[in-house]
Amino acid sequence: MSGKHTFQKQESNCNNIQVAQQVTDTARDALKQIVGQNRLPWPDIYTKEFWNVAHIKGYENLLLKQHGELDNASEMAAEFLDKTDEILGHVSNTVSSFISGAREHTEVMETSIENIKNLPTSDQHITKELDAILDSHKELIYKSSEVEHILEEKTRIITELQSQLRLDPLTGLLNREALRKDIKKEISRARRYKYPVSVFMADIDHFKNVNDVYGHLVGDSVITITAKLIQEEVRESDSVYRYGGEEFIAILPHIDVSHAEQCAERIRDKIAKYLFVDKKNNISISITISAGITELVEGDDETSVIARADKALYLAKQSGRNCTRTIDS
Ligand code: GH3
Ligand code: MG
Ligand code: MG
Repeated sequence: MSGKHTFQKQESNCNNIQVAQQVTDTARDALKQIVGQNRLPWPDIYTKEFWNVAHIKGYENLLLKQHGELDNASEMAAEFLDKTDEILGHVSNTVSSFISGAREHTEVMETSIENIKNLPTSDQHITKELDAILDSHKELIYKSSEVEHILEEKTRIITELQSQLRLDPLTGLLNREALRKDIKKEISRARRYKYPVSVFMADIDHFKNVNDVYGHLVGDSVITITAKLIQEEVRESDSVYRYGGEEFIAILPHIDVSHAEQCAERIRDKIAKYLFVDKKNNISISITISAGITELVEGDDETSVIARADKALYLAKQSGRNCTRTIDS
């Protein structure tokens, strides 16, 4: 009994060492790839490249840990987004109070100096001094407007980075961090203005087969095209997110569950009929998706409504896939 226990312990230690070596190896090659392509290792880009490399190297033990690691990366990116939000808030507050303070101060100074200069005085020395002060004030105004422009530019760059961080690099859809933020906002808007919100969740059926048979790159382009087909089928005001590898979520505001079900069926049907063609490799693939639908109910938060959509999706998988299932509440 104890011999078996020791053996299991040794085996798991061995496994951990092997995974640690694979992590180092994969991390180094993933960074090399990203830097070699002149891209920045943002959490999303890095995570994707990391798992791509792990897949290419066939590190099975490491791949088993993929789900948990992705969650960590997601948390990191979410934290980063929150931080930049905070920084942006501070920067714009500081900039506006600094600029308006400096302007006010300068105007008062200029008026006072002009008044002093206009006083009848024969003291040439004081007039010269006052002119020098006025000149240095003009320089100050010029410098502060320069600083204003620099800070505006920095704010623009941060805002741009923020919107890039909201996007999934493979599909161009919004990512999981964006979903986390947007769904919270949508829930509070829907409560305030009293309109329905439905959530659509879909997962490609038997997607592992696509990777296994045609390879990871073809798998990637199937994910990208599926994303595009979903995006095309929803309204412009709906937001579509890549929730995970081959999982998608759409937030459908102003749509109740029965209309959302019709929308889900349209998407499902469109994807089932679509032929993914890769002329270069002489490949054509058909895929299907399973979909889960639910509607926001009282007492829901972002976790509970997504968990229910996920449950509905699970029911669709259980019912044989290539179908839509709904959970009302
Ligand atoms: P099911 O019908 O139950 O959903 O079967 P499935 O094979 O689709 O299920 P599973 O979730 O087990 O497999 C999903 C696969 O998607 C596993 C993973 O390797 C692959 N995957 C995840 N992200 C990516 C990606 O970015 N690109 C590619 N090509 N494959 C990915
Ligand atoms: Mg799947
Ligand atoms: Mg899946």
